[in-house]
Amino acid sequence: MSMLSVQDLDVRYGQFRAVRSVSFDIVKGEIVALVGANGAGKTTMLRALAGANRVHGGAIRLNGVDITHTLSHLRVAAGLALVPEGRKLFLDMTIEENLLLGRTVGRPGVWTVDKVFETFPNLVKRRHALTGTMSGGEQQATAIGRALMSNPEVLILDEVSLGLSPLVVDQVYASLDNLLTMGTTIILVEQDLTRAMAVADRVICMLEGRILLDRAMEQTDRAEITQAYFGQGYSAVGEPA
Ligand code: ATP
Repeated sequence: MSMLSVQDLDVRYGQFRAVRSVSFDIVKGEIVALVGANGAGKTTMLRALAGANRVHGGAIRLNGVDITHTLSHLRVAAGLALVPEGRKLFLDMTIEENLLLGRTVGRPGVWTVDKVFETFPNLVKRRHALTGTMSGGEQQATAIGRALMSNPEVLILDEVSLGLSPLVVDQVYASLDNLLTMGTTIILVEQDLTRAMAVADRVICMLEGRILLDRAMEQTDRAEITQAYFGQGYSAVGEPA
């Protein structure tokens, strides 16, 4: 059975359909890279999955349970955690305090503050530092750690690389390596196609609110993904060309 099932999802801003009839299923342990140009609807869809954007139509199911209209903190309790674009941390709290916030509506499980520090060793010496004084990479690691503290079954990462230098992105992904090999189910938005292809076992490409390509990474290549990215020769999945 799929862990996360999205059917005919429609998300609107007023009359504007930012996500249009999007459907996909993700099974346990899959790592899915969500790619697409600016404005494709990636963030809107991820926020709808997490309960931060209202759903206009369609259904979202987590482990078979309909969560389409469930409040966001109850989705966290059900096992779905989002690391939002821009991180959204409390900058005047310490790293440890931000991490502990992730546990408030979470689930029992393996993730503790100590385990987060084990996974992101660069944070250890900054444990009691104010988050606002930390580097972008350290803040990103904290945001991921906070989501992990809820012991998610599905972890959603929206552009972890945003605003970070290439070196720091390498560091964040190096720490994520642990996670990627632990069998956590992950959806991640990554603009760097090389990186997306390296870490994910499936790619979903969106354009103008629709899915244009949904393939196992081993069944596609850079040329096909790039074509879908720009919409060349494609119609939406499920629609005639
Ligand atoms: P990016 O990579 O730039 O973050 P994205 O693929 O995540 O892009 P979204 O941010 O989801 O795309 O935006 C999808 C569309 O919805 C865009 O046309 C955007 O202008 C529009 N949009 C996003 N947020 C809002 C909002 N709060 N109100 C109105 N329109 C919005």
